[in-house]
Amino acid sequence: MLKVALIADAQQATYWQQFVDYEIHVTLDDTAHTLAAEMTIEYTNNAPESLDFLWMHMWPNAYSDAKETDLAKQFIQQGSKKLLRAGEDEMGSIYDFSFQLDGRALTWEPHPEYADVVKVILPAPLAPGQKVQLFIPFQVHIPSSDFSRLGHSDNAYQITQWYPKPAVYDKNGWNEMPYLNQGEFYSEFGNFSVYITVPDNYIVAASGDLQTASEKAFLMERAAATAEMESFPTDLSFPPSSPTTKTLHYILENAHDFAWFADKRFHVLHGSIELPFSGRTVETWSYFTNLQADLWMKSIDYLNRSVIAYSNYVGEYQWNVAQALEGALSAGAGMEYPTITIIGESPTAAALDNVITHEVGHNWFYGMLGSNEREYAWMDEGINSYYESRYMDTYYNNNPLEVFLGPVANVFSSPEILEKNTTQLSWYLIAGLERMNKSQPIELHSNDFVSLNYGLLVYQKTAFLMSYMADFLGQGQFDRVMARYFDQWKMEHPQPEDIKQVFEEETGEDMSWFFDGLLRDDRSLDYRIQEIQNGKTVMVARIKNLTDIAAPFPISLMHGDSVLRTEWHRGFVGLQAIYINKLGEDEVITELRIGTNGLFPDYNMENNNMRVKGLFKKTEPLALKFLLAPDNPEKTSIFYSPLIGGNVNDGFMLGLGLWNSTFPAPALEWVLAPMYGFNSNAVSGQGSIGWNMYPEEGPFDRLRLSAFGATYRTNPDFDGMWYRKLQPQLELSFRKPKLTDPVSHNIRARAVRIEESSVDPGSPFPEIAYESFTEWFSEVQYTVTNKHILHPYSLTATAQHNRDFLKLFAELNYDIVFSKYKIETRLFAGYMNDMAETPNLRYQYSLAGVSSLNDYLYDDILPGRNAAEGMWSNQITRRDGFFKLPATEQSIGWSNDLLLAFNIELPVPNLPISFFADAGYVGDVDTDLAVEVSGFQYDAGIMLRPINNILEIYFPLIGSAQLADPLAFNYAQYISFTLSFNTINPFEALRKLSL
Ligand SMILES: [Zn+2]
Repeated sequence: MLKVALIADAQQATYWQQFVDYEIHVTLDDTAHTLAAEMTIEYTNNAPESLDFLWMHMWPNAYSDAKETDLAKQFIQQGSKKLLRAGEDEMGSIYDFSFQLDGRALTWEPHPEYADVVKVILPAPLAPGQKVQLFIPFQVHIPSSDFSRLGHSDNAYQITQWYPKPAVYDKNGWNEMPYLNQGEFYSEFGNFSVYITVPDNYIVAASGDLQTASEKAFLMERAAATAEMESFPTDLSFPPSSPTTKTLHYILENAHDFAWFADKRFHVLHGSIELPFSGRTVETWSYFTNLQADLWMKSIDYLNRSVIAYSNYVGEYQWNVAQALEGALSAGAGMEYPTITIIGESPTAAALDNVITHEVGHNWFYGMLGSNEREYAWMDEGINSYYESRYMDTYYNNNPLEVFLGPVANVFSSPEILEKNTTQLSWYLIAGLERMNKSQPIELHSNDFVSLNYGLLVYQKTAFLMSYMADFLGQGQFDRVMARYFDQWKMEHPQPEDIKQVFEEETGEDMSWFFDGLLRDDRSLDYRIQEIQNGKTVMVARIKNLTDIAAPFPISLMHGDSVLRTEWHRGFVGLQAIYINKLGEDEVITELRIGTNGLFPDYNMENNNMRVKGLFKKTEPLALKFLLAPDNPEKTSIFYSPLIGGNVNDGFMLGLGLWNSTFPAPALEWVLAPMYGFNSNAVSGQGSIGWNMYPEEGPFDRLRLSAFGATYRTNPDFDGMWYRKLQPQLELSFRKPKLTDPVSHNIRARAVRIEESSVDPGSPFPEIAYESFTEWFSEVQYTVTNKHILHPYSLTATAQHNRDFLKLFAELNYDIVFSKYKIETRLFAGYMNDMAETPNLRYQYSLAGVSSLNDYLYDDILPGRNAAEGMWSNQITRRDGFFKLPATEQSIGWSNDLLLAFNIELPVPNLPISFFADAGYVGDVDTDLAVEVSGFQYDAGIMLRPINNILEIYFPLIGSAQLADPLAFNYAQYISFTLSFNTINPFEALRKLSL
């Protein structure tokens, strides 16, 4: 222990950090939405080496270009078009700036990569211990608040990340970084003195202590008036600005950022608390408009309670004020700055408390413990979420979904939900993602996370892991360690190795399993009980660790469903026997469970329990559940739901949906949906069973082997007409080099067995006079899709075979995007080798989209399959030539040779209308069945697309001579439509989770 203490002292002694003091004078122009400012900074170099230059963050420039800045690139990568669509004056920038030393302007250079960072060259090296004072005038054009954190919404101003700020220089060197929406900050500590000039009737909420006595008196008056209000108007309009201005002075000591907000509509509330240990007074303020004033009337209580809670959990609040305001924000539900936080709209009062508490908590994990948020977001967001979750557990112990959903949450009342908190509920999703190879390590640069993972892993998974660690160490010990961490590192820049060191010194444990294992691996734990040997006084359990993280695990000795005892065991790698001493010979242990209390980060809980006796030690009892509940690892869950459906042939249908799939999903998933048709008086329906494998290494990240079966009637008048489909299938997804990569590659191979019955309608006994035919098809398909919003495309190449034909076809969909406009193009090329003696029209390519006649593999969901007339006969699907004409028309063009087609669609921006044009080539047809359409063809018209690619209605206006003239007779006959249910399969959506 002595040795450790010496190392710690040495490390503390060598720790240093820079200081930057600011004096800023800023004036708001609320007509032009600009800031004019003059700033003086005093930079103290405490590093052991000299500095030749300073990297300066000029973050308002993140909004200066819709494509080139890192912020813009992040929006594009995440599929957001908001900056691309922005008008010139909605953008933002910092301009007219210079860096002056003793009246001389210094040279500066742009950063080679980041558009919003510059390098300021110092005229002479700044030696260790020396200070330099720079005078920096600058102007800011404030962007719209629709994008990120800095912005204005009309006359409501969110002035954040707004002034030139030196990047942190620490033991790792310079930490310059561009502004990002997903990914936060890292700045030097120092003192702020800020003078803000605004029109008189603005209410300003800012970091630090207000020094202007007259303004303070005015705010107190306002607060007294607000406290008296019993109801609030709904008016959100802005009063005109006063012609005169006021200048407010704020001081904030030992902080690393300064933000301010101004709005003419704010109501104000004021409170104060005494800190638990020192008894020092902290003033609390909240500011809000009429928008959610009713919820905000309790905001001071939330502020007070959370400041005291965190002071108790971690250590005392260091500043004199704690504030929250309601305002426009486009980066999450709330955003923290030292002593002040901005909160967006809240669904419930509990959610407002939750977000205020989270943001107040950032005064500890970000504000006082100034870690590098960009690189180690878990150190602020994750640890903070853990304490936020503790606060919520203390003050709200109802259904955790109620915070977000309100009373609707009561629909979800399974014990798996009611007995959990938000963090534990999130674990179900996280474990699912981990199993599905969709997870990422927690300790990853913020910009490398897919956005779902940033929220789920950085916040919730870290919080979950912290609870698990506290469970292992004991809450008391955990709290003591965290208090020491706070005490040692407050007002400094702790790194991951620093918090690890504190944990190891204080507990005497090797904590690598946590800091180097769980935080850096994209999967958590997977322990398996292999075998149990039951002796008289000792029980031996062989446990296998299927990962290489040697993390401790709790094993519970069960009697039935009740826990007799839970023992912690230190982690190991590989297989180990653990010995459990029985308390007495009559202690009856019936089962062992690992991590049964819902706090254990095992992504595969299926192998965590085993019964001591019996033939089927691993068989789990059955649990039947309605609709939706997370997986219960101790039970085999089957879910059910009534189904209502219908189609022209079966008529109205009632049925029962049964499935075993939930989150996290079992490897073997099945769905069954039998339905009774009231027209056919028969059972139709479908089902599937699939085995999912997610290898951790190798070219594929998902393999799915499945079988699908379906049977439905094919004629409304003859029950004897039906089809049966059976489809064994193998799907392979190629592993992406990075999860954020927009390109994905997939292969599908399937065999399709189609059995169809047909009736001879001329027979005197049509109900029984049917026979059935069976055909086999095989197919291999390769798909590559790119979801990049600037150049999205998908390419599918297919080879299909049957004893009568070989078809090779490919389809390319490519969108050409210019700012607000885009052209959707589609290219189809198909070749067919028809080997049948009598060519079958059904197998041929169709120049129009495919209808039920050509859907010989029964891939499409067609409510009016085989309808010869009426609306359903005009349904087509996006396949083959996709001319926007009903495919049942004989004159549309069929080919068993060659078919080429080019389709374009021009959507009218902001309207569900598109223009379309199709051009195609139909090769020679060697059959007498087909009609004489061949050679070059075209059509064009207008389409309505209420739901893009799902529901579209086509109105052709012109067509080539060989296509029947749409306008010649009965026009309605030529209107076709697409109604695609295939794209809205919830099970597929759940499993493919395109992040
Ligand atoms: Zn946060």
